[in-house]
Amino acid sequence: MENLTLVINATYVLCAALFILGLKLLGHPSTARKGNMLSALGMLIAIVVTLLDQGIIGFELIIVAMIAGGAVGLFIAKKIELTQMPEMVSLLNGIGGLASLLIALAIVRSGAQLETYLLIITLLAIAIGGITFSGSVIAWAKLSGKVSKLISSGSATFTGQAYVNALIVIGIVVLGALLALTPENPSYVYGFVALAIVLGIMLVIPIGGADMPVVISLLNSYSGLAACATGLAIGNNLLIVAGALVGASGIILTSVMCKAMNRSLTNVLFSGFQAVKTSTMEIEGEVKPMSAEDAYYVLEASQSIVVIPGYGMAVAQAQHAMKELQGLLERNGTEVVYGIHPVAGRMPGHMNVLLAEADVPYELLLEMDEVNPRMESFDVAIVIGANDVVNPSARELESSPIYGMPVINADLAKNVFILKRGMASGFAGIDNPLFFKDNARMIFGDAKDTINTIIRQF
Ligand code: NDP
Repeated sequence: MENLTLVINATYVLCAALFILGLKLLGHPSTARKGNMLSALGMLIAIVVTLLDQGIIGFELIIVAMIAGGAVGLFIAKKIELTQMPEMVSLLNGIGGLASLLIALAIVRSGAQLETYLLIITLLAIAIGGITFSGSVIAWAKLSGKVSKLISSGSATFTGQAYVNALIVIGIVVLGALLALTPENPSYVYGFVALAIVLGIMLVIPIGGADMPVVISLLNSYSGLAACATGLAIGNNLLIVAGALVGASGIILTSVMCKAMNRSLTNVLFSGFQAVKTSTMEIEGEVKPMSAEDAYYVLEASQSIVVIPGYGMAVAQAQHAMKELQGLLERNGTEVVYGIHPVAGRMPGHMNVLLAEADVPYELLLEMDEVNPRMESFDVAIVIGANDVVNPSARELESSPIYGMPVINADLAKNVFILKRGMASGFAGIDNPLFFKDNARMIFGDAKDTINTIIRQF
């Protein structure tokens, strides 16, 4: 028996190592697939060993469950569009939270004599699991617009919302205390579960749909914490390690996203933020439109070009056309690199994923810190549907709402071509002085159409 426990724990260490290695490899697009496979392998081993360890079911049922679950996962992964990825991650987080909730609920309901600290941890697993579950479902609904009549993608606030939330939290604490004091009477746990679920809803409805990626990343971290607490409650070492890994990586991603958006997490969570503030600023200079045909002559004579993609490239689905133009430019002897801002687009890694889909080599994707120091050496910066992430007011104008946000300094290139449909602002809803700079030319139109016109000139 002791030997079996030893083998199982050794296998758990192997799984944990696979998860950690997987996470590390996920850090770069060129190794991300391998990282994903290793983590999935770790999870497969973990599931089989855990079920065998607990002696819950036999091999037949494990195989049937894995085939059924795997088939559903495969179907969803194949069907989902790249742009729906945040929605899918949100649902997966929710399911993770629900799983933790159900396991912890089963422990409390069983009336098992738990030490007080273990009971508190089990209740924490229920509370965090419940918040994660309902919060993730609301985040999914806001992003997908599937239940848009019921849940608007905007920010839903009402008078006294903060007091209602405070009352719910008090209710959770009181019921938790009652459960800890009278563990032999677990009936309070249903109220406890219900309040945790309502709290998840209340915390996410005031947040606007466009900020959901940050919220989803935070909920991802919560689902890890819930799993970690459940692991402690049932004494499963692997669940503790895996939960801690998810919790930590989720919070790191949340913090990276907040920093890149120049917002604090408190601001993201509590400002009732649709975040679309409009501001007018005095901008000098005039907009100088240019045709795609004329842009060709400048590009044809350029030695080095940096492409800065943004949300508009995703809207226009212009990545394949850009890859084609890149090939033509390279054959013409021009160096082409891409400057990627960490929050360009609407989800973490959005631009990397789109460009990878178009087979743009990973080594051409430069991060903001790599591309900014050499910006002055580029003959042309082509801005494809990016706006906020190239707004120089973040650097130059203290009164700007995005002052201090790190941006790609496209305005410092010798020439800047901006591909967008009109003069609309971006996500932050603010004007962009870049469009009025002497070296800037606006090439109006859908980004894909514009790039295709340039390709035809070549
Ligand atoms: P922006 O949202 O600032 O700007 C996108 C621009 O694309 C618009 O100005 C729009 O102008 C243009 N556009 C839209 N459709 C097309 C089209 N078919 N062809 C050409 N242009 C088009 O995008 P950025 O990527 O620069 O910035 C991202 C913003 O999103 C940041 O403010 C960031 O903080 C925020 N954000 C990012 C998240 C992330 O995880 N990445 C998560 C949440 C928010 P026009 O209509 O005139 O064409």
